[in-house]
Amino acid sequence: MEKIEHIGIAVRNIEIAKSIYTKLLSCKAYKTEEVEEEGVLTAFFLVGQTKIELLESKKEGSAIARFIEKRGEGIHHIAFEVDDIYNEMKRLKKEGFVLLNDTPKKGADNKLICFIHPKSANGVLIELCQEIK
Ligand code: ZN
Repeated sequence: MEKIEHIGIAVRNIEIAKSIYTKLLSCKAYKTEEVEEEGVLTAFFLVGQTKIELLESKKEGSAIARFIEKRGEGIHHIAFEVDDIYNEMKRLKKEGFVLLNDTPKKGADNKLICFIHPKSANGVLIELCQEIK
């Protein structure tokens, strides 16, 4: 694991959240992107070397919709940058972590990603991400 690449925050309304985080961080979101397969709209802010990812559900029953229903708005996941996601997935599987997908999938912001079930990591949803070159 290289560093915390981003922290994902589930929000009800991304426009309102964007204006709050623009004020908080004193910078504008550098990108807004819909990830259709996940049914989410995302917005990214850069803070030093780490990003903040805001996530609004665009589809009923999406992971973000279910999260907000259950727990309200708030921190949804922590994403770690990795050099080789295939290797890292293999290593973590061997260590007994429950991966939510068997092969990496395409995420927002030009990344290959894989999620680790929160029950494997003390209630925290972990994302692995690797920049697509
Ligand atoms: Zn993420």
